[in-house]
Amino acid sequence: MSGLESTFVDEMGGLSVPWQGAEVPDPKLLVLNEELAGSLGLDAASLRSDDGVAVLTGSAVPVGSKPVAMAYAGHQFGGYAPLLGDGRALLLGELGDGAGGRVDLHLKGSGPTPFSRGGDGFAVVGPMLREYLVSEAMHALGIPTTRALAVVATGRPVHRNGFEPGAVLARVASSHLRVGTFEFAVRRGEILKSLADYTIARHYPGLTDLPATGKDNRYLAFFEAVLEAQASLVARWMLTGFVHGVMNTDNTTISGETIDYGPCAFLDAFDPAAVFSSIDHSGRYAFGNQPAVLKWNLARFAETLLRLVDSTPDDAITAVTAVLGSFEERYENHYTAGMAAKLGLSGASLERSLIDDLLALMAEHGADWTGSFRALADELRGNAAPLDELVPREHIGPWLMRWRNALQQQGSGSAETADAMDRVNPLYIPRNHQVDAALRAGTAGDLAPFEELLEVVTHPFDRRDEWAEYALPAPRGFSDTFRTFCGT
Ligand code: AMP
Ligand code: MG
Repeated sequence: MSGLESTFVDEMGGLSVPWQGAEVPDPKLLVLNEELAGSLGLDAASLRSDDGVAVLTGSAVPVGSKPVAMAYAGHQFGGYAPLLGDGRALLLGELGDGAGGRVDLHLKGSGPTPFSRGGDGFAVVGPMLREYLVSEAMHALGIPTTRALAVVATGRPVHRNGFEPGAVLARVASSHLRVGTFEFAVRRGEILKSLADYTIARHYPGLTDLPATGKDNRYLAFFEAVLEAQASLVARWMLTGFVHGVMNTDNTTISGETIDYGPCAFLDAFDPAAVFSSIDHSGRYAFGNQPAVLKWNLARFAETLLRLVDSTPDDAITAVTAVLGSFEERYENHYTAGMAAKLGLSGASLERSLIDDLLALMAEHGADWTGSFRALADELRGNAAPLDELVPREHIGPWLMRWRNALQQQGSGSAETADAMDRVNPLYIPRNHQVDAALRAGTAGDLAPFEELLEVVTHPFDRRDEWAEYALPAPRGFSDTFRTFCGT
């Protein structure tokens, strides 16, 4: 692999440590994203070679590359950790994304680093396949996300609940700059301003011409742009039934991409209180809490920018508080526009109570999130059976009348509306019971279920008869006990 650049390392000294991956006893490429490789100008055949696989594990350094472990801090479950950093990851370098942009190539599970603290620095097959599958599903759903390039089994047994096979994930992100990077830099003097300017140039280049000081300075505009990108992102999660599971500030990107698929899951039955992470005892990162947590994380981000926004602290606080105060309205705009599309309505003809009352019915009856919106489209086509399976007709009848009235007022025909709904409401998402089964098989050496599930969830809107079972919710009772594990 050639042509890796290193602008972050070259321009942001002090925010990373040069490092290399651990030796890999017996590397075996489990999955390679050839389409993504192609779009990055990487040759799939070379990546499959022994040298390519060695690069994908971090055990060999490509010519000219300067791999580093990145430093960052972060608020984890509300508590501040002044030094986190890549404890089991490496930034290999940057590549052109084929569309004029720049992306990071990053490895996870590549061995201990100076930031490993008590951890072993490794990762195991199941969770790395999970990140591959879920991030590629998110991409196919049109949700901004890091992408997965490859998973390589290392042949190293790694101690978790007993020994599990080790693995390294290679992933691609528009960058790995996060709120936690700014929380680290703000305590290190001048580097903060350089970091902000580097980040603005990389992610929000339209703001580079704004003045560095004054009322309309670029740092305040930067905060607003990140707030907007993240509000849009989390609205997309909420529309898709996605629970991130560990929304710490070190997992909140500046680019507005979803990052770090640890204890994440998609809802089956709609429940605002749904939590899947085994360590989230208080429900801080429950499904329905995600917008509020995002605002909290953005407040931590704003704090890091204060001295760039205005040299008078009170004025800086007033300015960022005003932007932070726009969060709810921005989030609501993204959410209601998305919900209108899911219900076949134009934004203007949607009353908020129509959403709230539907959600209340879905919660009361534990209706499957993904299935409900598909069932509503079927209802418009005159097929009542799918909805009848989810919510008793005597309960949803009055709501259906209001919805049909709203559709009638905007004058759209049922068939076209139903088709438009199906274009935004996925049929296939990574269902927890299927992901679980595929990862168990993958860990035991059988990748066929993983490959099939990957094919399904990367075509979320294409109905195929042979995929019927993938559209079904988990068997009753599965979700009550299902938990995913963080940092594994
Ligand atoms: P995450 O929950 O994956 O976002 O990780 C949070 C922090 O814990 C980061 O600093 C990681 O690098 C670190 N970490 C997670 N797992 C390990 C591990 N097995 N060894 C070393 N550090 C880890
Ligand atoms: Mg993380």
